[in-house]
Amino acid sequence: MPRQPSTPSLAALRPLRKDRVIDLVRAAGLDVSDWSNSRRGEAGAATNPKYCYEWVFVEPGAAIVLNLWHVLLEEQADGCIVHRGNFREDAETQFARGRGSPWGVRARRLDAALQTALQDNLAVRVILNAGVRRDRDDAEAEASKVELRALDPEPWSIAAYDVATGAHVLVRGAAAPSFVDQFSIDADIGGPAVRHEQTGFVFDRDPKVREAVLKRACGRCEYCDQPGFRRADGAVYLETHHIVPLHEGESDRVDNVIALCPNDHREAHYGEDAASLRLRFIAIVAEA
Ligand SMILES: [Zn+2]
Repeated sequence: MPRQPSTPSLAALRPLRKDRVIDLVRAAGLDVSDWSNSRRGEAGAATNPKYCYEWVFVEPGAAIVLNLWHVLLEEQADGCIVHRGNFREDAETQFARGRGSPWGVRARRLDAALQTALQDNLAVRVILNAGVRRDRDDAEAEASKVELRALDPEPWSIAAYDVATGAHVLVRGAAAPSFVDQFSIDADIGGPAVRHEQTGFVFDRDPKVREAVLKRACGRCEYCDQPGFRRADGAVYLETHHIVPLHEGESDRVDNVIALCPNDHREAHYGEDAASLRLRFIAIVAEA
């Protein structure tokens, strides 16, 4: 369940000014350098038609920025602010009405961006819009007119997405942080520690042990107490380290694994004090 941000109320989220899309996308941390990539250069960046009419922006490996209408947000009984919808269905409706371009295309891009965000675990940021919203179900309606827009300072998360239908529930507030280590970056390794031949012997590490140690560390180096850095997807990164290495015969158990910041981890392997660090780690883990 997403962490609840300190939100006064849904009404207080209504934007009060109209910022430029380029400034909001930049403020969300996305690279907007390509917006200047047109005949008018820097002067035309904010009105570059390739970008300024879009309703979603995707930076691979980092984040998506979605435009949402404030009027379509709901405040649930538990205080969560959510957006329920179905961009794929919106797109189909527009195409069926002969309005595929531009509205159907935009809705399709929104749907595709949600899928990308889920697949790649990207951060989700939201630009809130207010003004005259075009009713999707009214085939004669005029184009929408955004009168106010602002970037929500809180990140959002995708609470639900139905791959089959495209129905989504977006929730204001970042998902609770997950903890990852150096092995999470490669595909997850299944099963307990086993020895197998692969240009000599290497040891697979039990993901459950790593997971339990990362949970115990709760995002802080268990040696120096510094917080791990946050990845673009919001997960907190530390490295798991076997205090007595598996090749010395010690086993892959939580009381032989410590979560360290990358610097302390390198020192544990290559520092001149590696032997005394090992003794300190044993004491720390025994206490934990
Ligand atoms: Zn440390």
